[in-house]
Amino acid sequence: MTDKNLPGINVILNQKREWTPLSTSPPTNMTWGINFGGGVNSTALLLILHAKGLRPDWVLFADTGSERPETYENVERVEKWCQSVGFPFAVTRWIRKTGQFESVHENALRTEYLPSKAYGYSGCTYKWKIQPMVKWRSQHGMEESVVAIGYDAGEKRRVKKVVVSCASSEYDPSLRFLWYPLVAWGIDRVDCERMLAEKGWPVVKSSCFLCPHMRKPEWESLKLDHPKLFQIALDVEKGAKAAGHADTASIFKQAGGSCLCLADSCSGDEV
Ligand code: SF4
Repeated sequence: MTDKNLPGINVILNQKREWTPLSTSPPTNMTWGINFGGGVNSTALLLILHAKGLRPDWVLFADTGSERPETYENVERVEKWCQSVGFPFAVTRWIRKTGQFESVHENALRTEYLPSKAYGYSGCTYKWKIQPMVKWRSQHGMEESVVAIGYDAGEKRRVKKVVVSCASSEYDPSLRFLWYPLVAWGIDRVDCERMLAEKGWPVVKSSCFLCPHMRKPEWESLKLDHPKLFQIALDVEKGAKAAGHADTASIFKQAGGSCLCLADSCSGDEV
């Protein structure tokens, strides 16, 4: 695997700075770990790290309570594998002020709102993914820890932002807490899928089963493979519409004849 997508980029950047988010090795002066999303890229990243003899200080899965069953199967598989190779693995969840956990879909049913991505906000990602992970790291004395992000070398739009920031003379200091190993190694999605196929791990794209970013084929597969979850998504939409909370969502998709005011494509954020 070569830097076929970004020829020489890490070389150029690393000439300028000792360590950057596009370095080919993790930092040596800080703890570092993986925000494991349960999907293709972050699973492949773990396999590659192990193959390279690199051991993260933590592997963290933030459970929304609303992942697809296939993702939970993979999380279970990866947790066992991490234990077998000595990677510290943990699961964290958002806990309400009541002390209770509430999943994304339970919250949507209770509040009669769609997940906030449907309205163009990132509240659900922050609440169920980012916040619990930050809290976990803080509780474990690793606030200042580098997070390896599973963006791959084929994600040119996302990668461009990182490359430009790294190359800029006005280098954003917060970038020193991020590492993009798949980009640095020139590994794209196809490479990741091939590795998982060789391993015999049937990993699917991860997201909440009612994520507004899902594409039509994902809604169709949900309806076919998990009709009960599909019905919950319909109930969420029905509740939001009845409460007048769905008309501001600009994204309605037809899924098997049902109008879901849930949207376009999941960007696959594997935080
Ligand atoms: S997967 Fe979608 S619905 Fe779930 S937290 Fe992320 S953006 Fe929100």
